[in-house]
Amino acid sequence: MHKSNKNDDIKKILFAKFIGNCGFCFTDETDFLYIDFPYVSGAYGFMSFDARHLEALSQHEKDACFLFTHAHDDHFNRKEVRSRKLKAAGPFGIRCYAHDYITIDQLNRSGAWHITAFKTKHTLCLEHYSYVLEWHDTRIFISGDTKDISVLRKISNIDILISNPLFLKGIAKVKRINDFKKIILCHFRTKSKIAHKAHKKIIVPKQGKTIVLNP
Ligand SMILES: [Zn+2]
Ligand SMILES: [Zn+2]
Repeated sequence: MHKSNKNDDIKKILFAKFIGNCGFCFTDETDFLYIDFPYVSGAYGFMSFDARHLEALSQHEKDACFLFTHAHDDHFNRKEVRSRKLKAAGPFGIRCYAHDYITIDQLNRSGAWHITAFKTKHTLCLEHYSYVLEWHDTRIFISGDTKDISVLRKISNIDILISNPLFLKGIAKVKRINDFKKIILCHFRTKSKIAHKAHKKIIVPKQGKTIVLNP
């Protein structure tokens, strides 16, 4: 599924920096893909983020792409996305508000990744997508805000699950934690509340922390 590239023979490392909520910056140091960022800092009592993440955008916002699971404020800041003319992809709300909206197909032509969108359920949301992101032979599933794990019936061979706490609870309930090599928890309110989910595969990142995704 990956586009051929003259650097294919050089093993590239894929990093994800955790910004807050479901907000990550994925990069192989050539391409930059943001997920669910910029969002409205502190929206609905969820995580605020260091303003430096927003300042850092100005350095490469023309080249970076921005993918959103849905348009709730704790995932999507319509004002920032519009005014900065960010290249943004995602479901209905993003189509409505982004100044430079791009389709998933266009997004797939913009970088070394391949993204597949899956329509998933989320309360009080007209349209919500979960995603499979393939990049440097690593397959990543991004839940967004859905808690409905039935989407995984259509998907196999996921290396890394990036999950909200309720989706992970569903995975644990059906004993599928071992289907993944690594699980990165996001969109948690406090570390103490999720301590009972401790498992060696589950990474609970600190905000601003960079995680190496491929071995
Ligand atoms: Zn939401
Ligand atoms: Zn949310």
